[in-house]
Amino acid sequence: MTAHLQRRCRACGFPQDTAALSLDALPPRLICLKCDANLYAQHDGSCRTYDIAHSHETVARALRKLDTALLEGWGSHAATLRLVVGGGTIRREILGQLTYYQRLGRLLAFTEDSPNRGAILLRLR
Ligand SMILES: [Zn+2]
Repeated sequence: MTAHLQRRCRACGFPQDTAALSLDALPPRLICLKCDANLYAQHDGSCRTYDIAHSHETVARALRKLDTALLEGWGSHAATLRLVVGGGTIRREILGQLTYYQRLGRLLAFTEDSPNRGAILLRLR
């Protein structure tokens, strides 16, 4: 059973049916039927925080949590994600993965949450 998903246009308020997001299809595209706005480019300026390194995560598990954060972030109206990655191996691997994902267009940009090097700010849209 698939959940019935809707996304409401922030410009005109028109609700539109949408499919579940998949990692391979990021960034998602959906044009408002009423005003032609790109619904997944719209955001409310908010930031969502995910700690992906402080529950005894392995690198593989942290990478899966990154993917979940990306999908949830694109499904929300957040502009940015703040990933808490700690200071070790997970941080290095996540930075590498983010470089790859940025090339694929799954995010716009990322940067250290200065002066806290244990967190990364990730700009989705
Ligand atoms: Zn619209």
